[in-house]
Amino acid sequence: MPSSLRVPFAALTLTLALGGPTLAQMEPVPASEPVVLDMEETAAPAPEVPPAPAPPPLDPGVWEPDRPEAGSIEQIREHTTAPEFLPESVAYVPDSETVPSPTKVLGHLAGAPDVLSKVSQVHGYFRALDAASDRVQVRVAGTSEEGREILLVLISDAANLADLDRYREITARLADPRATSREDARRLSREGKVFYHLTGGLHSTETGSPEMLMELAYRLAVSERPEIQAIRENAIVLVTPVTEPDGRDRMVEWYDRHLKGKDLPYEELAQIDSPPYWGHYVFHDNNRDGLQITQALTRAIHDTYWSFHPQVMHDLHESVPLLYISTGHGPYSRAADPVTIAEWTQLGVYEAGALAAQGLPGVWTWGFWDGWWPGYMVSVATNHHGVGRFYETFGNTSAGTFDRDLSDDKYTGKPVTDVQWYRPWPPEKKVRWSLRNNTNYMQAAVLEALKYAALHRSELLESFWTKGARALEKGKSEAPYAWIFPPGQRDAGRLAHLVNQLQAHRIEVHRLLEPFTLKQQTWPAGSYVVRMDQPYRNAAVTFLEEQKFPADEPNPPYDDVAWTFPLLYGVEGAKIDDRSIQGAAMEPVTGAVKPLGGVTGVGEIFLLQDTGQTSLLEARLILGGHQIDAAEVAFEAEGIAYPPGSWIVQAPRELVEQAATRLGLTFAAVAAMPEVRRHLVDLPRLALLHTWTSTQDAGWARYTLDQTGLRYELISDADLRRGGLSGRFDVILFPNARGSFSDLVHGIDPKYGPLAYTRTEEYPSHGIPNAADDITGGMGFEGLLELQRFVREGGVLLALANAGTLVVDGGLVRDVSRASGSFNTPGSEVRVQVLRPEHPLAYGAPELDSVFRGNGPLWDVDKKDRGFAVLQFGLKKDDAEKEKEAEGAIEEEEIDLEDAAGGETVAESEPGSRKEDRRLVLSGHVQGRSVVEGKPALLDVPVGQGRVLLYAFNPLHRYLNLSDFRFVYNALLHWNDLP
Ligand SMILES: [Zn+2]
Repeated sequence: MPSSLRVPFAALTLTLALGGPTLAQMEPVPASEPVVLDMEETAAPAPEVPPAPAPPPLDPGVWEPDRPEAGSIEQIREHTTAPEFLPESVAYVPDSETVPSPTKVLGHLAGAPDVLSKVSQVHGYFRALDAASDRVQVRVAGTSEEGREILLVLISDAANLADLDRYREITARLADPRATSREDARRLSREGKVFYHLTGGLHSTETGSPEMLMELAYRLAVSERPEIQAIRENAIVLVTPVTEPDGRDRMVEWYDRHLKGKDLPYEELAQIDSPPYWGHYVFHDNNRDGLQITQALTRAIHDTYWSFHPQVMHDLHESVPLLYISTGHGPYSRAADPVTIAEWTQLGVYEAGALAAQGLPGVWTWGFWDGWWPGYMVSVATNHHGVGRFYETFGNTSAGTFDRDLSDDKYTGKPVTDVQWYRPWPPEKKVRWSLRNNTNYMQAAVLEALKYAALHRSELLESFWTKGARALEKGKSEAPYAWIFPPGQRDAGRLAHLVNQLQAHRIEVHRLLEPFTLKQQTWPAGSYVVRMDQPYRNAAVTFLEEQKFPADEPNPPYDDVAWTFPLLYGVEGAKIDDRSIQGAAMEPVTGAVKPLGGVTGVGEIFLLQDTGQTSLLEARLILGGHQIDAAEVAFEAEGIAYPPGSWIVQAPRELVEQAATRLGLTFAAVAAMPEVRRHLVDLPRLALLHTWTSTQDAGWARYTLDQTGLRYELISDADLRRGGLSGRFDVILFPNARGSFSDLVHGIDPKYGPLAYTRTEEYPSHGIPNAADDITGGMGFEGLLELQRFVREGGVLLALANAGTLVVDGGLVRDVSRASGSFNTPGSEVRVQVLRPEHPLAYGAPELDSVFRGNGPLWDVDKKDRGFAVLQFGLKKDDAEKEKEAEGAIEEEEIDLEDAAGGETVAESEPGSRKEDRRLVLSGHVQGRSVVEGKPALLDVPVGQGRVLLYAFNPLHRYLNLSDFRFVYNALLHWNDLP
């Protein structure tokens, strides 16, 4: 579960998650049977519960030839709440005279109640294991934003570890079908070892996996059971015990500080079960960074993938009862090879069967996650011919033991307690659940997965090669054959970003050496070409093509449904369906590319066309105290046309050149100041506001601003209540935040308070990146009043996506309402039209543009207030305009480019030529088009002396939609020059 202090989610906020609340969970619960109180029965004395019979002694056949560690059988039984939750494979801890068990190092059994291990303890244990066993090696895979190590542990036979380089070479060769023939692949698959990568501790409130992995690693290192020997012999197990170390320490300290010993039922504890931050920037979305690769943990996991090429990467999550094994229910990402999809199911069904054989109820597959979005952490495996998979075991967040009621839990529309083909043995409606239960399920299941991998070692290795070989073949023999991205884009920086992101995913990019012509179109030398005849062709296609989520899919998508890189980055290109492109003269791009910029001409004044370059905010910072003006209307100088927003810079040439080369901007020096209406481009005193119940998107906003170097103050509830905001800030940026108006204002129920989040000697991970003596209670009406005062006194408030709920539902703006009608826009790239091209918020944007819209609220205004809208969704004209044109005018029909193009096109204009593209949805899926079309996407609403800027989309979504950043940056660059 994403235990963001559980404020009820706004209906349809699709922050669905590995472990996130699914739409199914948010469905209204059917009215239950009326409760009839039988007073007589209630009054009767409780019947005597006979003591449970002592469980039979463990059959030595379960542990031989191992010897159980003294007391381990009894302790495991004691901490497991019922015999059916204790599989035989983990019913004892093997004894060893030379290798320390977790109990010997930590002083307690892994998964013992009421105790969670900090990062230093987990890492300390693995290092002790490494020191004592030649079957274990510990390496450092990365360092977190706050300086904690991210470890990688290798476990296998000592002989395999001694030959590690050879086995790494084998999987690297199997990853490259161009260097490895089928015959070689078969030979190498017989010789090689399967690499199986387990990752724990990614989601910080899912506390069980770091504990479990210590016992698992110990068991793998010392047990002499034949199945464990087979795993050691055939597999090299990689373990990342704590993937998000900053969040792990914050969570353990939060548990010790606020949860431990609190006598609350689970449902109540769940209101306060998480610290407000996990990672330094990112909360639950640390599992949504697989496309961007912006966070330290994602880089560490990707590096590990490229170092070892594991055939399976397996992420350990906790949420749904009792164990969900990911197979996906479809639709599937086109990057997932059909063989991978089959392997998901093979592994899942094998594990479910093996666990049922050990007597475990509640293990299921299929009905939870779809398999569509390719940006999770483990997607690095799936996108590159490995198998990226995950578990969701049942976690309590806290280390306590609780009664859990499953009667209302539904997934894919069915109660989790129902028998289904994919859940033949469901759990009971009520269970008592402990951390050790969770440890048992997770460990027993992982052991079965490793057993499967060991048994199918050569098959997994060979299919790893086969997937690449087939992708390569497809890229040679079927369209598309390539994508081309020419120079001369509106933003050279974002083109470079596209090329670099593709390369970060190991997708090869070439550069044309000569112009390439196809039919009427010519692409100049220097154009980037992404050829499809390469091993990671499927990932390339998926990242570059338009997504079409099936409209008839009965289950809601698990996450965003679109991720087309060229649209997210605002880069024009063309898909090439003609094979001749692969014969064009080109050279490979090696290493990261930098956009070219410079200064042309002679003169003391430097002009810059504003064509939407994302880097203008950084340019403003580099140019420091020197004067920059923005033209308020279009003008021409020395034969060049400058659109509104273009810059007139008075600064030393060296400094302008520095900005130009660093950011890929082209300035033209001119002798005379152009005659044009203009205003000063100066930066505001900026505050970034977050609630304590939803820090995630504020985290992405911080990350995004930190990339530019812009300074801001991070503020929350108490800062608002303190008042005097207009004396301290010019602009307050309120990023997307979850919750209703009431949640946004009142936050966590103060009855659970005070909940301090301050840095102390005892809790050194708290108070970062900002602190509060009490995070309950919200901003309150006092805070809201101060915010209103700030705007009325002349401040500018930006409300992104659901943050607008505070402003609209709270009446800070009077003339904006929620759009009525039913619609669903799960994370898609949607057409917008600029209605006010000379408005500073629209500077740099083409008249027809697109933005990424998830399922936040949609706003509406009366006809008389249409002038507030700077952007609108789609091309629909408002009623007044339609009436004017009614006579003889026929409203333009929606053109589906694909249909219009037919099968004939060689260079389909996807996603290029966007100007002609009049569809509402450019990538993804939207339901309720007629509701969305014509609604304002960005509103500039005057309030008193100030402004509220309402964004009906999230322009700072996960550092993905770079072409939308400018809609925020424009507000920061022109905050005091709004018309
Ligand atoms: Zn999770």
